[in-house]
Amino acid sequence: MPDSVQISENSVEKRLVRARVAVMTPMDRLLDYLIPDGLTLGVGDHVRVPLGNARIRGVVAEVCEAPEEASAFKLKAVLERIDDPPVPAKSLEFWLKAAAWTLTPPGVFLTGCLSGLKAPKAATQYVYARTDKVADKLKPRQLGVLEAALIPQSAAELARMGGVSDSVVKTLEKNGFLQKQVRTGDSFPTPDPAFKPPVLNDNQYAADQLLKAEWDRQVYSTVLLDGVTGSGKTEVYLESVARALEADGDTQILILLPEIALTTAVMSRLTARFGAEPVQWHSALSQGQRRRVWEGVATGRVRLVVGARSALFLPFAKLRLIIIDEEHDASYKQEDGVRYQARDLAVMRAHKDGFLVVLASATPSMETLTNAQKGRYGWVRLENRHGTAQLPDIDLIDLKSQPPEKGFWLSDRLVREIQETLVRKEQVLLFLNRRGYAPLVLCRVCGERMTAPNTDSWLVEHRATNRLVCHLTGFSMKKPERCPHCGALDSLTAVGPGVERILEEVQERFPEARAEIFSSDTTPDAESSAALIKRVEDNQTDILIATQAAAKGHNFPNLTLVGIVDADLGLKGGDLRAAERSFQLLAQATGRAGRATKAGRALLQTYTPEHPVMQALKAQDRDAFVAYEQMGRDMARFPPFGRLAAIILSGKDRAGLDRFSRELALLVPNTEGIEVFGPADAPIALVRGQWRKRFLVRADRNRDLQGFVSAWVGAIKKPNAVRLIVDIDPYSFM
Ligand code: ADP
Repeated sequence: MPDSVQISENSVEKRLVRARVAVMTPMDRLLDYLIPDGLTLGVGDHVRVPLGNARIRGVVAEVCEAPEEASAFKLKAVLERIDDPPVPAKSLEFWLKAAAWTLTPPGVFLTGCLSGLKAPKAATQYVYARTDKVADKLKPRQLGVLEAALIPQSAAELARMGGVSDSVVKTLEKNGFLQKQVRTGDSFPTPDPAFKPPVLNDNQYAADQLLKAEWDRQVYSTVLLDGVTGSGKTEVYLESVARALEADGDTQILILLPEIALTTAVMSRLTARFGAEPVQWHSALSQGQRRRVWEGVATGRVRLVVGARSALFLPFAKLRLIIIDEEHDASYKQEDGVRYQARDLAVMRAHKDGFLVVLASATPSMETLTNAQKGRYGWVRLENRHGTAQLPDIDLIDLKSQPPEKGFWLSDRLVREIQETLVRKEQVLLFLNRRGYAPLVLCRVCGERMTAPNTDSWLVEHRATNRLVCHLTGFSMKKPERCPHCGALDSLTAVGPGVERILEEVQERFPEARAEIFSSDTTPDAESSAALIKRVEDNQTDILIATQAAAKGHNFPNLTLVGIVDADLGLKGGDLRAAERSFQLLAQATGRAGRATKAGRALLQTYTPEHPVMQALKAQDRDAFVAYEQMGRDMARFPPFGRLAAIILSGKDRAGLDRFSRELALLVPNTEGIEVFGPADAPIALVRGQWRKRFLVRADRNRDLQGFVSAWVGAIKKPNAVRLIVDIDPYSFM
């Protein structure tokens, strides 16, 4: 099919030209429009089309000729072409494929991909540059203009310099001596692969050679770069980036990072390595910055992007390498709006366009490890920390036999070790993945548990701000003096610890020590987080009490003791990945100790020291944990040995919701290798006044899960009062 077709005036048989357009509406297919005479459109062009009484934006996905009879279908015509940089065909194909994979209407999916174009377009400016055309018969004044145009300039500027009128410049262009170009005054700094290459150690060099061999093949492949924390994975994957930058002038590279890591040291490392600050893409960019980056990527001016998950949907023209750092990180799964797993879709894109993806992690996901074991992914390992740094000693503190004193959370043994570390003038990290003061507030008189209005989730006490906050909905209120249920005065009690409560205990036990909290509450933005990291690096902090905000990415050379306050925390809740996530988070947190020359130590407080997660952490035996976890998943045929989809129904009217979910349950197609569980009340059954029900679909790997789900939910007309969300490969089961 031609990319672009134009009607020729003198063609004998008049043919119509049709554009198939992804229109920005929740419609599950592309729509056909006629291309009016005089308008030339190609794949990826932005257009405005009529739909009902509205004029709606769309992207041309296909252009084809249609015989005259097509007019019988009474196709409406495209209204106009919108002057934004066209979406490169490969990116558009990928977006449409990803929309189908996530069962999202193409227009809805594309609306997200075009979010970079919300800000109005800056006016385009043109410059004129000298071409190669020999200019021996021109007049001196014309030659003067050509000489000035060795540095491309605007027509007005060239005319001024040559002492001629604008029309002379235009004529020179018409005759091929000058070329009109878009002014790229807004150029992006070019990363220089040779700026400051590292000296790799032997293991790193070997790993780099394996990655080089993969790169050289120039075909699809996914490689797991599997190395302990501090082994130099970043150094190694930056060499792959350098190689791709060197390959040719227009190859594009994407480095995906968990959102949280973007604010930290990685950026300065990239700048130090390539001598230019990388172009970033994340949620904190302004609309104007987004448009600039979007256009820069679409036109190929941006070679290297470092971004959070949605950067995968930038309009790359020639993407040849994707690096996904901390590939196991749950933030690659988008949970609101369009639900997608960026890591999996990155592999999809590489597979489609035939290039290399590198997945880096010290604690790879079960999915990736299983793929590596089965040979579907390459597997490159870095077994040792760089230099003399050693992995920390890890020990368990059994809270059943050594409980903390009543009203405290740190056991005697942990307190002793903190004391000794402080005496040696080294730093301590106390890890508790819970923001605020206490996760639950209840009334001593009537037993009422405080929840957000019309929501089933507990309010968390934040003492720093004297508020009760719902971490699910964002609702917050001043802590009341009386119980809202029974009216008793001063009866509300905080139950359990959050980081603020641990800080209180630390200040009481170690009044001399300088302690502070590292959580998203104390470091809401990049500046505050950088300032805190600097204080730790400069030894202005002795004890850091941290949530997962601090668990990864940082190197604190003087930090030698990590205490895990509640190692059992992540195991509760019991969803599919609870043990896996818990293992990853604790391995990352304990990995913060002893990153430089000093030996490190990590202590885990637990009530279940016999749990395979605790045993594997203590023995630093990841393989043992993986084998244990894989066995359980394999038995249940759960991911990665089977696939899941969740159907989430919600509505204000509980009876109506129940009725609809029962009707839907009756329509489950009988398909071998696919089972449907539910409907069940969601674990958080009420959120902001909306009742919630869930189905879980489990399919064998070789089944068409998406086909099954769309046939099933497509078989019933959903009442408008019920909302239905499909989540392919769900990570949240709440
Ligand atoms: P990882 O990504 O595996 O956690 P990093 O790449 O962050 O490891 O390396 C850990 C630390 O060791 C960093 O401070 C890094 O600069 C340093 N490092 C690693 N490899 C080298 C090397 N070859 N030369 C110099 N410093 C290195």
